Amino acid sequence: MFDGVQRITLPLPTGPKHVHCYVADGTLFDSGLGLGDAPWAEAEVRRIAITHFHPDHVGGAEAAARITGAPVHQGGLDYAQCERVWGSKDWPERMAAWFVRHGTPATVAEDLIVQGHAFAPFIRYAIDPVLLYEGSEVDGWQVLELPGHADGHLGFLRDGVLIGGDHLLRAISPAVGLYPDSRPDPLGDYLASLARTIELAPRIVYPGHGEPLEDAPARARELIEHHRARLNETAAALSERPRTAYDVSLEIFGPDLGPTRRRFAVAETLSHLERLVREARAARAGDDNRVTYTSP
Ligand SMILES: [Zn+2]
Repeated sequence: MFDGVQRITLPLPTGPKHVHCYVADGTLFDSGLGLGDAPWAEAEVRRIAITHFHPDHVGGAEAAARITGAPVHQGGLDYAQCERVWGSKDWPERMAAWFVRHGTPATVAEDLIVQGHAFAPFIRYAIDPVLLYEGSEVDGWQVLELPGHADGHLGFLRDGVLIGGDHLLRAISPAVGLYPDSRPDPLGDYLASLARTIELAPRIVYPGHGEPLEDAPARARELIEHHRARLNETAAALSERPRTAYDVSLEIFGPDLGPTRRRFAVAETLSHLERLVREARAARAGDDNRVTYTSP
């Protein structure tokens, strides 16, 4: 690639089928899923930096650190969530209960428990990384907190080059979902991070998936428009009759999704509903058993 940034692409079994890691002057950004061999021994890695705790970015961190002897750097909030999700035994159950509370049928939620327990042991993040925050620096790279796709998502900026993780992708709208124990308004966070990206106007963004972005502000504007349209659609799906996020997701994303995609759809619908609540365009009601939304 340009700018002395080397791209290392690793295969993924699902989703976009690949994830990009980058190496620049001895810094490895992201570590892949950690299944199968990764070429870290040949890459001259002296430090490792993680954009966010999703499996395809952090899952290989422990292996990368072991092979290279390099310290791992990860966002403070991101590491807390990483431990809570991948390091706790009852996370799949808590997550399933939370989806049920938002109207998801038990069968769809139970599938999550089975998958969660099967998958979690393979996510080998690095224990006790160096924690990063807005304003931290890693070898001259400025650390930016860009919440949205993940609450603690980081970007790394140097000389107009942004290592962007999944904050900004070219062909996909990065998922912005609401999950238990997360910041309350992830879509609001994401829209602010996109506005910040327009101001920063990085010369080039190297993303976790897909090709580099040479016009980041234009893509950020597109994504803001996409979410504004989705907010309008979501608001239009509400009435005086209470509906769960699951019900609304059937209307927005259609009825024909398998369990995994349905859960993403419910989480994405929830992030939009909660943004609407904050814009006084929706009202939330309910208790620990069932949460519903109406038009205000
Ligand atoms: Zn990713």
